[in-house]
Amino acid sequence: MGGMEAEARIAENFRTVRARIAAACARAGRSSDSVRLVAVTKYARPEWVQALVALGVHDLGESRPQQLVERARAMGPGLRWHLVGPLQRNKARRVLPLVSLIHSVGSLRLLQTLDRLAEEMGRAPRVLLEVNISGETAKHGFLPEELTAAWSAVRECRSVSIEGLMTMPPLTEDVEQARPVFRRLRELRDRLADPGRPLRELSMGMSRDFEVGIEEGATLIRVGSDLFAGLNLVDS
Ligand SMILES: *Cc1c(COP(=O)(O)O)cnc(C)c1O
Repeated sequence: MGGMEAEARIAENFRTVRARIAAACARAGRSSDSVRLVAVTKYARPEWVQALVALGVHDLGESRPQQLVERARAMGPGLRWHLVGPLQRNKARRVLPLVSLIHSVGSLRLLQTLDRLAEEMGRAPRVLLEVNISGETAKHGFLPEELTAAWSAVRECRSVSIEGLMTMPPLTEDVEQARPVFRRLRELRDRLADPGRPLRELSMGMSRDFEVGIEEGATLIRVGSDLFAGLNLVDS
């Protein structure tokens, strides 16, 4: 597919996604600017990412630290890079200077490593704690009861800035099945938050279920495939 054609496709997809966000916000009685779109570009060609940036999308998400580092360096300043996939502790040092928000801190051990590195590097990285609400065994993240039990240790991490929580619902046919998962994440946030740690951000919702996420209080949605619909995704 030629360059112009791909750009036109992406512009059209972006308009559609924005209209869906606006409609979900209207249903939920929320203002559209209370939800931030993170464009997940893990399967997108670099020129498609440029096309999104040209449309005004400055929040970009990658699932692999290596690709985030490469793209953040190549594309230069003015963009906010979000890491949405797992982070191995030995990759953290390279990612921290480039990342705006890490959505996927799924263990106390990783959080404490980041906290030590942050102190050593004189940085205050912003992170979300990933929670495995549905309790699927293959899934990454804190179990809700684990997070509750670890909360005093979490609070002792003072160099990282814990902005909120993230979850991924089980993959099912029916997007409504994501609703109780998102709702439980919000309720967990409400229980854990206090004036010192307001946990403002809730990262919940992907292409198929972000409307449900918005209705349940998402402040960040992570949308990939629907922005690139009709294009041949790169297999990475
Ligand atoms: C790939 C990915 C997304 C985007 O998913 P789509 O279904 O393509 O919108 C969101 N969050 C995470 C953690 C991902 O890995």
